[in-house]
Amino acid sequence: MRVVRTVAELRGVLAPCRRDEALVGLVPTMGAFHGGHLSLIRRARAECAVVVVSLFVNPAQFRSGEDLDGYPRDEARDRALAQAEGADVLFAPDPAEVYPSGFQTAVEVSELGRMLEGDEAGRGPSHLRGVATVVTKLFNMVAPDIAYFGQKDAQQTYVIRRLVQDLDMPVRIAVGPTVREADGLAMSSRNVYLTPAERHRAVALSRALRAGEAVAAAGESDPAEVLAAARAMLDAAGVEPEYLALRSAADLSQIERVDGTALLLVAARIGRTRLIDNTLLGVPEANPASLAAEREEAPA
Ligand code: AMP
Repeated sequence: MRVVRTVAELRGVLAPCRRDEALVGLVPTMGAFHGGHLSLIRRARAECAVVVVSLFVNPAQFRSGEDLDGYPRDEARDRALAQAEGADVLFAPDPAEVYPSGFQTAVEVSELGRMLEGDEAGRGPSHLRGVATVVTKLFNMVAPDIAYFGQKDAQQTYVIRRLVQDLDMPVRIAVGPTVREADGLAMSSRNVYLTPAERHRAVALSRALRAGEAVAAAGESDPAEVLAAARAMLDAAGVEPEYLALRSAADLSQIERVDGTALLLVAARIGRTRLIDNTLLGVPEANPASLAAEREEAPA
């Protein structure tokens, strides 16, 4: 596995692949690998001739006061894990390589980027603008045929599908299921911040999603009832959600009835740690470690 720091070097390494028309897969990450990251790398390895994993803690998607400086970083460990999964290239640029002085362009997906996570009460509109901008840059740097993202960050996948469609980017977006700890907590690089007591309470998020799934599976179609069942699980653990929302799984718009395509999303702070999770309602589980079935489709 090659570790590459610059765009020029990356293009040089990938040039022979382009000549051979080899299928290139990209797994964008911020590092501190866990089972979620590894599942995406594994899938890219199974589907592509060349696997590029990017490792970049993107300053543009952090608000001031968020955990940019304290974000867990362990490149040596990540390097070993990516190599063990068979990645061909680890692209780990410095911030100055991605945002050289004078940088002033941003990509914004206006509606999708301002709801839920993008609400001022959440992480604000700069968060998904930062994500959209860095993903656009990574797509231009790597020119992947397929890019792999996790259902865990559901809204991010809608933003990316939208920008790929809106900007005519020739890349297929693949979304892998959320990988969970044995008790249901979605794996996240931020879980290391949790104290043992917080770790115990954090399971309320996936419990809430399961409670919502259960009432929807029993035939409840009133969003208020589904949300109430989920909310009860959060209340029982003393967890106040930043948002608990039921949206259309087609485009994250508001829904009046729960049908087979609804997405239940939650964000909450457990102590100082902000966690998010979500599940597709009415979709059978893809595997025991996942609440949501895998979804994948080419951009329309
Ligand atoms: P991050 O390093 O947190 O930016 O995540 C990199 C990629 O891994 C994103 O596409 C995430 O959605 C995905 N990811 C993060 N956590 C999980 C998880 N528990 N299961 C599946 N994918 C995940």
